[in-house]
Amino acid sequence: MRTKRLRWILRVLRKAEPTDLPVVVRRASLDNLYRDDDNRPVDKPILLTGYCLARPTRYVIVVNTRLSARAQEEVVLHEYAHAVAYPLQGESRKLLHDRVWGICYARCWRHFGM
Ligand SMILES: [Zn+2]
Repeated sequence: MRTKRLRWILRVLRKAEPTDLPVVVRRASLDNLYRDDDNRPVDKPILLTGYCLARPTRYVIVVNTRLSARAQEEVVLHEYAHAVAYPLQGESRKLLHDRVWGICYARCWRHFGM
């Protein structure tokens, strides 16, 4: 796994798209999901690519190591955009895929010719 490249991506993002709290990235082998958001069983297992947790003192991005190196990089960009967008998204205190997140996501992508 190209952790060196992931570290470089994170370094570029931290400098170019600062967040209100530090962002840490962890890699883990994540199990498939067998239930949907409403806790109902699903027909086909859902691949959990990664997620971002907004903690009181930092954002924790978790990336599934079962993905290809390229896919892991894309997950970091996606989740990092959540960390940038989070304080701008008002009082909902949720990690949304709204317009604000979309703009942050596009900004994150701009730094890489991926
Ligand atoms: Zn997301």
